[in-house]
Amino acid sequence: MTRSVHTAPRAETFRICLAGNPNVGKSTVFNALTGLHQHTGNWPGKTVESAEGSFVSRNGWRFAVTDLPGTYSLLADSPEEAVARDYLCTAEPDAVVVVADATALERSLHLCLQICEGCERVVLCVNLLDEAQKRGIRLSLPALSQKLGIPVVGTSARSRKGLRELVETLEAVCCRRSPAAPKLPSYPDAVERELAASSLPRLQALCSLSAELGTEIAATVTAAAHDAAAAATVAAGKPRGLRFDRILMRRGVGLAAMAALLAAVLWLTIAGANAPSVWLARAFAALDPPLRTLLESIGLPPFWQGLIADGVFATAAQVVAVMLPPMAIFFPLFTLLEDAGLLPRIAFLADRTLARAGGHGKQALTMCMGLGCSACGVIGCRIIEAPKERAIAVVTNSLMPCNGKFPALIALCALLSGGQNSLLAALLLLALLMLAVGITLLVSKVLSSTLLRGAPSRFMLELPPYRRPQIGRVLVRSICSRTLLVLGRAVSVAAPAGAVLWLLENVTVGGESLVLLAARSFDGVAAVFGLSGSMLLACLLAFPANELFLANFLAIEALMGNSGDLAAVFAANGWGSAAVVCALLLVLFHAPCGTTVWTIAKETRSARLTALAVALPTALGLALGLAANLIF
Ligand code: GDP
Repeated sequence: MTRSVHTAPRAETFRICLAGNPNVGKSTVFNALTGLHQHTGNWPGKTVESAEGSFVSRNGWRFAVTDLPGTYSLLADSPEEAVARDYLCTAEPDAVVVVADATALERSLHLCLQICEGCERVVLCVNLLDEAQKRGIRLSLPALSQKLGIPVVGTSARSRKGLRELVETLEAVCCRRSPAAPKLPSYPDAVERELAASSLPRLQALCSLSAELGTEIAATVTAAAHDAAAAATVAAGKPRGLRFDRILMRRGVGLAAMAALLAAVLWLTIAGANAPSVWLARAFAALDPPLRTLLESIGLPPFWQGLIADGVFATAAQVVAVMLPPMAIFFPLFTLLEDAGLLPRIAFLADRTLARAGGHGKQALTMCMGLGCSACGVIGCRIIEAPKERAIAVVTNSLMPCNGKFPALIALCALLSGGQNSLLAALLLLALLMLAVGITLLVSKVLSSTLLRGAPSRFMLELPPYRRPQIGRVLVRSICSRTLLVLGRAVSVAAPAGAVLWLLENVTVGGESLVLLAARSFDGVAAVFGLSGSMLLACLLAFPANELFLANFLAIEALMGNSGDLAAVFAANGWGSAAVVCALLLVLFHAPCGTTVWTIAKETRSARLTALAVALPTALGLALGLAANLIF
């Protein structure tokens, strides 16, 4: 919009806001108008905070746009509703655009009618017209406009259709060229009397009355929305995806489909990431000699050369090589499923089980995201609107093993199954995943009745329609907002940690490196949990990224004279299956990596929740290790 200004911008700026039910394309309209890139996704409830943007119309009018959180109503007390209601009542915008879903018009009108109570200058933007057309729904927008007494514009925001007309209508409304006379529903006498007597503006008065006369108010608004939708509907069309949902939403079928889908995504991630990881490692190795030449040519002493090349660069390169390929496969796949409307169905299926554990259906998704990367799982918890359930999902997220733990888990499972039987190894891995799910549910249950106690939040899980994902946008979104974000944080943790690791390896006391001294001094404590000092130290030094565990462990053992692969090291030390089981528990349950801790702190802004998220898996891992050591 900003690029095609035909007239010089005018001095006045109109303030408008976008309101609407979740998942009706509000963010898409906002992005199309302002050129900003607010996160969009086929997922109700992702616009949690309001976003701000601006644009200049072709006629030179400036507009400042606020995107309000998606809500179904303005009269109840959820945080989103309070934000939207307070804005409408206090900000006095020049116009409100209510974005409506053409395939679920009546529901959208419910909110539109409430907004008309609080603001006169309302434009109804009936979006998703392309989808409505595909389903055979035909609407008469002029009839709707007449029924509501406000301008109505039809759009297909994803393909930018109708947006110019929307802006022109907004200009007319903001310049008062278009009459503003919304037709408000008439409420039962008891409500009207109270409204007339109240000194509050109508919307606030309605809200304050809703505790007492809520049923009467809701019934009137529902009837008016139904009337207006009926007047506008020329052909009702057929709902899509219902038959498929009837099959998929049966618990047995759905859970099997969900497990198969997850297995496919994990398999594609594990199988697809190996080769690119090797290429990346080779590419970084090729950069090593020029880096050393550069460091030497600028006259750095050997100590600093080693610290930078072998410490900082080598560790950061290793983290990128092992983390980037799986993330670049996992996140786009995950985002595709999200966009197609499949993920919310998984949440729906898991909701009953998770509700029993004090969690939220969407926690099933953040747990799945955690399988890719715990930091992303934690960021993903934004989709859980209910605060208590979101806290539970954040704190328990790292109980699901992330991608970074998989190399060590796979190698240890292979070792436990005798190294020959890959099917047995795969089954062992699956059993470990089940254990992680079980423990997550159990811990969620305990947290919800102890530390994170509180009434379960009210929430509604809505099944969005199946939609054809937009591949380009999915790639941009998953690579930019998820993969690069996590990778950036991982590198900023790995680089300094690499320096520390190098120092520990290269600073000697009495002829022994600090690493060896530390590993030996940990031996005693580690033995209590069935581990060796080298395992415990490898785990501590993998704080930058879990991927480092295996490499650290093999490097420390090599310094001790036990070189070779995992099987060779275990054989050289004379460790049996009990040690493998204890090592598996250590890898599975320990404090989240640095990137995740940082992310938890940023997302929750709570030292208490961050400390809990660190302490919980650590305590659990140690307790399970102790128990396993006693049993074996
Ligand atoms: P919000 O929750 O209201 O902000 O919704 P979004 O803007 O995130 O859109 C929800 C989903 O609908 C996304 O998958 C969008 O790509 C899709 N979408 C938005 N507008 C249209 C449209 O006009 N037509 C179609 N077919 N899809 C749309």
